[in-house]
Amino acid sequence: MSYCVNCGVELQKSEPRCPLCGTDVLNPNEMPEEKPIRPYPAHVEHLDKKVDQRYIASFISLLLLIPLFTTMLANIFVSKQLTWSYLVLGGELVAFTVFLLPMITRMPRVLYAAIDAVAIGVLLLLIRILTQSNWNWLLLLGLPITALSVLMCWFFSTMSSPKCRIPVLIRFSFALACVGLLVVAIEFLIGLYLNAIAWPTWSLYVLFPCLVLASSLLLLNRRARVKEEIRKRFYF
Ligand SMILES: [Zn+2]
Repeated sequence: MSYCVNCGVELQKSEPRCPLCGTDVLNPNEMPEEKPIRPYPAHVEHLDKKVDQRYIASFISLLLLIPLFTTMLANIFVSKQLTWSYLVLGGELVAFTVFLLPMITRMPRVLYAAIDAVAIGVLLLLIRILTQSNWNWLLLLGLPITALSVLMCWFFSTMSSPKCRIPVLIRFSFALACVGLLVVAIEFLIGLYLNAIAWPTWSLYVLFPCLVLASSLLLLNRRARVKEEIRKRFYF
């Protein structure tokens, strides 16, 4: 009987290295057999989880059709035509593209963001048609705020990917600055909609704390790097 010198796990006779931490096993009393029978399967199935996820997402997508058809039928029986049930259609479209589509297909992030933006745009258009509000509401508020938010979400998801090489603190700092600027942009758009463009006021209450926090994160990152550098040079 051998035990791993590194992590202490009990080892089978057939193991040339620890299955848990990968440390080589060197026990002169128990040399590994020529053709050992390993107690583990020859290969591991990685596919199951992905397939399951896709299956469940497709199933939920089909279930979404039930409330859609029910509301449409109810709408036709009551109003003799389709009116408010279009909102259910728009809402389900957004839910599908945002939550279920990424589980069903693999696409570049930018394509997901574009599809989400279109789905939200369709929902806003349906709301505009049904409420018969003016076009300015959609063109000056709804669509620009949607576009900015989707752009930011795409940007955040790109930054949060494991491939991103930017240090974590800098990423957070950048994200905070982006949130602050988005709020200023929203105030500007509201001003445009109300024909009352002025210097930003309430959005500054969000922007300033965001910028202060962002710059302190940058400083912290610098400090962390300096500390790491000193640690490396002086070997402690
Ligand atoms: Zn081990």
